[in-house]
Amino acid sequence: MTAVQSDASALLGVYARVGPSFVAGEGSELIAEDGTRYLDFVAGIAVNALGYNHPVIREAVLRALDTGLVHVSNLYRSEPGELLAAELVARAFNRQGQAFFCNSGAEANEGAFKFARKWSGKTEIVAFSGSFHGRLFASLAATDRPDYRRPFEPLLAGVQIVPLGDRAAATRAVTAATAAVIIEPLQGEGGVRPVDAGFLAFLRDLCDAQGAALIFDEVQCGLGRTGTLFAYEQTGVTPDLLTLAKPLAGGLPMGAVLLSDRVAAALAPGDHATTFGGGPLVATVALEVLRTIAEPDFLAEVRAKGAWLGQSLERLAANSPRVRAVRGRGLMWGIELGEPAAPFVTAARDRRLLVLTAGPNVIRIVPPLTISQGDLERGVAVLAEVLA
Ligand code: PLP
Repeated sequence: MTAVQSDASALLGVYARVGPSFVAGEGSELIAEDGTRYLDFVAGIAVNALGYNHPVIREAVLRALDTGLVHVSNLYRSEPGELLAAELVARAFNRQGQAFFCNSGAEANEGAFKFARKWSGKTEIVAFSGSFHGRLFASLAATDRPDYRRPFEPLLAGVQIVPLGDRAAATRAVTAATAAVIIEPLQGEGGVRPVDAGFLAFLRDLCDAQGAALIFDEVQCGLGRTGTLFAYEQTGVTPDLLTLAKPLAGGLPMGAVLLSDRVAAALAPGDHATTFGGGPLVATVALEVLRTIAEPDFLAEVRAKGAWLGQSLERLAANSPRVRAVRGRGLMWGIELGEPAAPFVTAARDRRLLVLTAGPNVIRIVPPLTISQGDLERGVAVLAEVLA
């Protein structure tokens, strides 16, 4: 393979790429072009839930390719997408609903906003401080990152961002004009912040009272990441729309909107579309990823590893004056520092451990869900060293 020149790139400079160029992956490790192995607590930003070179993904990709069908379009029926929709819906919303497939998390949220508008006949959207919902014109409007938004305004009108957990502010914001309330049950990019189940229940009641749709964005925290298939299962609150993406198709681009029956009933042919959504290759892979993650033993193992990781990070926090707080669930954790997190991400990479930030002061850890206990321990030891 030809070496990549780091000082000259034809790729648009909207990313500040750092570190080595990776050429292969195995289990929970990425392998650089000089052969150096990096333990990966990033997993392609919470995408590679089954790690690298997982036999389930390999087999599904090869089987899908054997049909000769990578794509057929949504003009025709195709079995993998039908099966995937049925299995996703069977596991959500008390088994009643429908699925729409797209290609990314932002696209899933844009779709969810349209579906909520069509169902409610209203236009306004309420989101929360610390949120991240994507970089397109509606999802960015609902994202609490003014620096991301400002250069591209005007974005979608009628979107309000209210303080997370503030019931009085939410009550003022959610009115008879509100089409949807969108929230991540466990915020990712905004600093790895679990949202109180009581606040989610409060929003459920508010939405019901005002005729608004409740959207849970589980693009990052969904699909096993927190130790249950959907993060909302741990809250006792059910949304009207659920958005998924990142790990869904094992690293192939895919997003999904799951709609409860009553919202789905408001949509008709022509209301929404996307050329690539739910094609046979991605849907075949996603079905196998879903079946693997949804296995009770797989999820129990995520919870056990997550409990160990949480306790280890708490211990690490107790021994490091740099650490202000540790937050998370399952295999999604944030270490909040009293200083910028980026230098510690670099220091960890220098010791062959990949971690990422979530906002300026938080180190984020989202390893493959298949990570071994030994690899978790190895990574935590590096973090302890770096934070000492
Ligand atoms: N929603 C959440 C919670 C996310 O974490 C992300 C991406 O990080 C998105 C939406 C946007 O997803 P994508 O980058 O696939 O558009």
